[in-house]
Amino acid sequence: MSASEQPAKKAVLFCTCSGACPSMTGVDFWALAERVRVELGDRIEFMALHPRLCEEDGERLMGQILSERLQFITAACAEQRQQKLLRDGFQKADVPMDAQHWIPVSMAKETTDTVFQRIKAAVQDQGDTATKEKQS
Ligand code: SF4
Repeated sequence: MSASEQPAKKAVLFCTCSGACPSMTGVDFWALAERVRVELGDRIEFMALHPRLCEEDGERLMGQILSERLQFITAACAEQRQQKLLRDGFQKADVPMDAQHWIPVSMAKETTDTVFQRIKAAVQDQGDTATKEKQS
């Protein structure tokens, strides 16, 4: 799929890492989700939140909601961990884990505001620039 064929519509998928991950204590998940809803809700198709996307039930959720037609912004652990841990969920959905369908956002050691700004930038991103920058 070329950049011109990139899915125009986006969705946000939060993984709260059980809500007890020591590296995410700076993120208020509920405040973050509400801010995304209020400020970005009209620019995304939907958002969803799960406590453990890398467990079997989280992968089942991904299998149900990931779509070739959407670009998913996943707010979860560090991008490189997501690359490994979310792979099975993308496979279950039969959606390629590429820049056209996926923009990872790390919440590890970040604040609520920083994560929101990253999600906002990803929602506004019209290409795969954000992913390339994060993965370099
Ligand atoms: S995908 Fe990452 S953030 Fe989510 S439960 Fe697994 S390790 Fe935690």
